[in-house]
Amino acid sequence: MKNLAIIGAGAAGVFCAAALKKNTGLGIKIYEASNKPLQKLLLTGGGRCNFTNLNVDKNIPKEFYPRGASAIRKPLMRFGAKSAVEFFEELGVKSKVEDAGRVFPSTNKASDVADALISAASRNGAVFEFGARVKNISKEGDNFKVTGERLNGEIFRDCAAAVMVCVGGNWNDSLKKSLEALGHSFEAAAPSLFSLKLDTAGNSSWRDLSGISVPCAKLSANVADKKFSSEGALLLTHFGIGGPSVLKLSSFGARAFAAKNYVFGLSINFAPNLRADINAAFARARLDSPKKSVLNIPMFNIPKALWAYLCGVSGIDANCTIANFSSEKQRTLVEKIINFKTKVVGKSSHKEEFVTCGGLKLEQIDSSTMQSKLVANLYFAGECLDIDGITGGFNLQAAWTGAKIAAENIEKTLIF
Ligand SMILES: Cc1cc2nc3c(=O)[nH]c(=O)nc-3n(C[C@H](O)[C@H](O)[C@H](O)COP(=O)(O)OP(=O)(O)OC[C@H]3O[C@@H](n4cnc5c(N)ncnc54)[C@H](O)[C@@H]3O)c2cc1C
Repeated sequence: MKNLAIIGAGAAGVFCAAALKKNTGLGIKIYEASNKPLQKLLLTGGGRCNFTNLNVDKNIPKEFYPRGASAIRKPLMRFGAKSAVEFFEELGVKSKVEDAGRVFPSTNKASDVADALISAASRNGAVFEFGARVKNISKEGDNFKVTGERLNGEIFRDCAAAVMVCVGGNWNDSLKKSLEALGHSFEAAAPSLFSLKLDTAGNSSWRDLSGISVPCAKLSANVADKKFSSEGALLLTHFGIGGPSVLKLSSFGARAFAAKNYVFGLSINFAPNLRADINAAFARARLDSPKKSVLNIPMFNIPKALWAYLCGVSGIDANCTIANFSSEKQRTLVEKIINFKTKVVGKSSHKEEFVTCGGLKLEQIDSSTMQSKLVANLYFAGECLDIDGITGGFNLQAAWTGAKIAAENIEKTLIF
């Protein structure tokens, strides 16, 4: 019997076993360092598992994958969002589509996705080996030697005809070294998808804004001569900012921000769709409610408390009515609304949707099979590769896509 060793019982590893045909005749073992499968998957989408995004089938991957877009383009055409939805439907997981193309199980339970994958993998003959950390992969003739350590310190040594590496973003040093010994190399790791700490948040009037959400804001940063920008909902927090626009920016600028140790200047436009309407809106307010305090006439969908804050930092107090609002003060307020300058002083360690950019270099992988170009029958999928996406279901989709393509090729090459 030929053995397939899958390293990591995360999204990519378990999906690979679930995607293989039944009765392959392969001895399939999934080695998992922890004592449970799919631990991270259970946390995804706030426990609801945003398992794909329909936009992946419509737009070019560059819009969703700041790293790895060109490598994942063709694989996504073979197994994209529609295929993922159908795959899970066949396993009994019905889905529903929410805003921005995000797909969730209709029950809102990540555990339903996890249970379906574990059952399918087990039906296909996969055996889970928990508490088994793989530390070394080497070649022994046509086969691989897979060596590792169990939680009780016991060493295991197995033999496999093919190895599928799905260890996620946190590479174990000794495993990494063993792959380097086989000729592979890695892009340095850096976190992506995080919230930002602002120096502005040091002041108590900012902290009073904590919990306020701005429906659409544009963030822009110029770091190491590169411009990064993102648009979307913005959440004000006691330490700075979070929400979709921030997670997106953190993904686009992940490497550059890490190189600056997360200290850089940031501009926030709280009303990016405003353009020429600004002055007209103020002129209308002058006519309609001249006696009202500027503080009490929030405009451009800016939440009331944030409007009052922006007035405060523009030097406009509660006694300033719209009638005696000088054009100079108006210019200052408009500047704060469309170009609020602040300084990022760190990233939050709170895990919203945290992924790692970096990993095995993509030029060493044949993306039509997910097989190493350097070592036959050695496969990679998921976050261990230098592919990562923005928030919205793109990271899990990358894991499913890579795992499915590897599974197809494993069947072709190992089963006669
Ligand atoms: C809080 C949170 C929420 C998220 N929400 C979403 C979401 O809604 N939608 C989305 O698309 N993405 C989301 N993500 C990202 C997504 O979870 C990951 O991109 C995805 O899980 C990657 O799958 P993977 O199989 O590559 O790695 P993982 O799921 O991390 O699995 C890797 C597995 O390998 C095991 N392992 C590692 N090293 C070894 C070793 N040497 N030997 C044996 N086992 C080993 C690990 O213990 C782990 O179980 C979220 C991430 C987080 C942290």
